[in-house]
Amino acid sequence: MNVFLGACGEGCETLLHGEFEAYPPKGTRYALSLTQTELHIQRLVPKPDMDHRTVMRLIDVVGCHTMRSPTITNQSAFFRVYAYPLKKRKVVVGSGRARQRVAKTFQVDSAECYEDNLQMAEKWAAAIKCLVLGIAISSETEISRSLLPRPRRLLLLLNPFGGKGNGLQWCQSHILPMITEADVSFNLVQTERQNHARELVQSISLAEWDGIVAISGDGLLYEVVNGLMERPDWEEAIKMPLGILPCGSGNAVAASINFSAGFEQVLGQELLTNCTLLLCHGAVSPLDLVSVTTSSGSRTFSFLSVAWGFISDVDIESEKYRHMGSARFTLGTLIRLASMTTYRGRLSYLPALDCAAHRPILRSITMATNGSLPFQHVPLHRTVSDMALCEERHNFCFREAELPEEPAPSPSSPPSSSAFHRSSFSFEGLSEELLADSEDPPEADPAVAAPAVSPSVRQMHGPPDDFLTPLDQPVPKSWVTVEDDFVLVLAIYQTHLGADLFTSPFACFDDGLIHLAYVKAGISRASLIRLFLAMEKGTHYQQECPHLTHIPVRAFRIEPLTRKGILTIDGERVEYGPIQGQVHPGLANLLTGIGRVKVTAF
Ligand code: ADP
Ligand code: MG
Repeated sequence: MNVFLGACGEGCETLLHGEFEAYPPKGTRYALSLTQTELHIQRLVPKPDMDHRTVMRLIDVVGCHTMRSPTITNQSAFFRVYAYPLKKRKVVVGSGRARQRVAKTFQVDSAECYEDNLQMAEKWAAAIKCLVLGIAISSETEISRSLLPRPRRLLLLLNPFGGKGNGLQWCQSHILPMITEADVSFNLVQTERQNHARELVQSISLAEWDGIVAISGDGLLYEVVNGLMERPDWEEAIKMPLGILPCGSGNAVAASINFSAGFEQVLGQELLTNCTLLLCHGAVSPLDLVSVTTSSGSRTFSFLSVAWGFISDVDIESEKYRHMGSARFTLGTLIRLASMTTYRGRLSYLPALDCAAHRPILRSITMATNGSLPFQHVPLHRTVSDMALCEERHNFCFREAELPEEPAPSPSSPPSSSAFHRSSFSFEGLSEELLADSEDPPEADPAVAAPAVSPSVRQMHGPPDDFLTPLDQPVPKSWVTVEDDFVLVLAIYQTHLGADLFTSPFACFDDGLIHLAYVKAGISRASLIRLFLAMEKGTHYQQECPHLTHIPVRAFRIEPLTRKGILTIDGERVEYGPIQGQVHPGLANLLTGIGRVKVTAF
């Protein structure tokens, strides 16, 4: 579970203690104590008339930078902690709390020379960063920068048309400032068309990246997963940590990551801030993939769901309300309820009989640790990168006069333009370049834009489907078959089907299970509405609706006996006809931030 929210035990041990003046200087000194989970900031002088203690939870922290004054005679060093704690909103909406950016700067001036003060500032920065990244330290550890891995290099793929089309804007206002504070180096590529991301990941050099992050809805991640599985080196490629930063209308995986971190269910920019915060923490969890075969014999890899009936109808029919963001699903549901269609079909499945005894697989993940490897970039088309700047980060200087007043602006505010602010450094040049790009797309770079494998000759790889028989043959004898009229059939392997659809509360990223749910014909409209309303909180199974069934399975087959209908894989429409899938436990890796497995090196 979440290592940061654990009960007070070894988490309360003080790792570092020190007294510093805050910056800008107001004659106030603070005692700082760092534990495994929190940074305690106690005001010392002038004597407080009340307890002026601030507790910064490390789960809310994204990074810490050291700085120096450009005034050569000033021997002080500084460290600045960047956090996004939940704070009361001025206007109460939802829970009344939202994350707001806080940057706290402390001055280290106990030694006479700058080098000694810097060493102390670096010790604090290194300790905080180790804890954020899950690198084990104790009060016995000799803490220094050498404990830290080199900055992570992430390939960010952005679909500018995902959701309401504000991915680029949110990237600038939320994502890039936060990941820069977390010392993440990135290369940002805007996709130009459908399947661009799929083709791009087929030709990248894996060794150059520590992760690939889709900035969109689940559809872009689907392209990334399938692009990696089409590579001849798929076994290695699919181990690349994959992340998602929700800027689409269907943000199921992001909502599932948010839930697994123990965060409150939120939507929009709040979900994005939570997911970016988690991305900065960097932990990776194994992720089950389901290989799905359709009637034409095509095979794809799915991380979310296969849907038939009510859910896939709503998903595809609500495309025309895309401008509404995730509200399109609510409207689509209401419209569909008016003409509740039922579908005759045969549903077969291999039950996961040992399901109760099933234990999630705990695996340690070893990532590339050699930061000294020569690093060459394949030129990417329509990209923005901060890579060349990342080496300067630790040596960064600022002018004292330009330090901001605290608290610093919230993530929704435009970033500070002061020269000291590391994130605004790459950021401002970036926004210009991106905007220019979107207005006037340059010539395609054939090295990247040309697919490594043309769509017509795509070859999907992957492990064999041992549980499945070909679709034109009967299912194995050990399977169960139900022939009936269905309102919906849903095979799902994440907790959420949308940001506010807590559809499968018992699902886990790597439980090795497909959660098969179906609703049979005969259910009243009122009962179906009740189920969907309860789904927001995940309480729909508590209604014990006789028409709703849930079975954990390893494999399934859907054979529609109704001529017309819609089938989706991960929200993407596929050919209508018999379809089947089986789970492949832990085949991929998902950047979940604070999962059970903490990454200790990149
Ligand atoms: P949403 O959740 O809003 O549907 P997705 O990430 O699912 O967002 O993307 C929707 C669709 O757009 C997917 O089928 C994806 O493959 C496709 N796509 C990705 N990049 C582009 C692009 N540049 N132009 C058009 N479609 C794109
Ligand atoms: Mg989608």
